[in-house]
Amino acid sequence: MSDAARRLILDLDTGVDDALALAYALGSPDVELVGVICTYGNVTMRTAVRNTVALLGLLGHDEVPVLVGADRALAATAPFSPSEGVMRIHGENGLGNQRIAGLCRCAPGDGLDFLREEVRRATEDGVGLLYVPTGPLTNLAHALGSISGLADALGRVTFMGGALAVPGNVTPCAEANVANDPAAADAVLRGGLRTRMIGLDVTHQAILTREDTAAWRELGTPAGRLFADMTDHYIAIYEENNPQMGGCALHDPLAVAAALAPTLVGCLHANLRVDLEGASRGRTVCDPDRLRDSHKTCDVALTVDVPRFLGEFRSRVGRALS
Ligand code: CA
Repeated sequence: MSDAARRLILDLDTGVDDALALAYALGSPDVELVGVICTYGNVTMRTAVRNTVALLGLLGHDEVPVLVGADRALAATAPFSPSEGVMRIHGENGLGNQRIAGLCRCAPGDGLDFLREEVRRATEDGVGLLYVPTGPLTNLAHALGSISGLADALGRVTFMGGALAVPGNVTPCAEANVANDPAAADAVLRGGLRTRMIGLDVTHQAILTREDTAAWRELGTPAGRLFADMTDHYIAIYEENNPQMGGCALHDPLAVAAALAPTLVGCLHANLRVDLEGASRGRTVCDPDRLRDSHKTCDVALTVDVPRFLGEFRSRVGRALS
């Protein structure tokens, strides 16, 4: 199936840039967001559910189902809880410590069951399904082992994570989403799926500034105000830690954008694996065992048309917040 499919499932660990990815999807007239499966990472999985429900309400899309996903890495024995460093970046509630009222949705459904049904539907009606994870790849790793027809139905999975030619952001080698579950990322990259990696190589090139958040505030809507305040919190952390960047990186929304418009990024075609142990744990690297294999499963984004992406971002997120 082709990448022209127009049904989208997001897989979010709903912190600040996941919220921006959600707004990007909802402001995109060329795709239907059919569900959000939650995971852990920026926050606990349960907080991701709560944040996603609240954001969908704020953005006027209560109809979109929110599903329960993995609450821990494949190898973990207890539910994940974010570190103090992560809570500083995304705020203790994951949304820059902005208060947001959320309707309580009783008993959200199971993410794997939801995905299985969407895969069946996509297989039946011949329409491909876009799946965009912007947290650890644990949900997708679980799906790989339990949903038949997954690879055909999903086409190319565009995920935010990894770093090929630049340093990591949690260790010199590892990017945060991959570091949170290296085994899951390795299973996805070597499990027969076609993937498109939107890693730090490109997300650190796409910067949002306080001029953009000021424009959202001037919209005068509750969503515009909340997104402006939430993102200013995130930008303030970047100003402390990465003052040379002049704003915050647009990690997660770039993955949604590249899923909808693959020509936004220029890619190296490669077969990747993830280092699972030692100092390089969490590193995404070319797989020596598949180096000579002419069939490359991953499109690793190394360049991005930043002006075009920022134009799309401003237009689509602005539409969602209006
Ligand atoms: Ca995320």
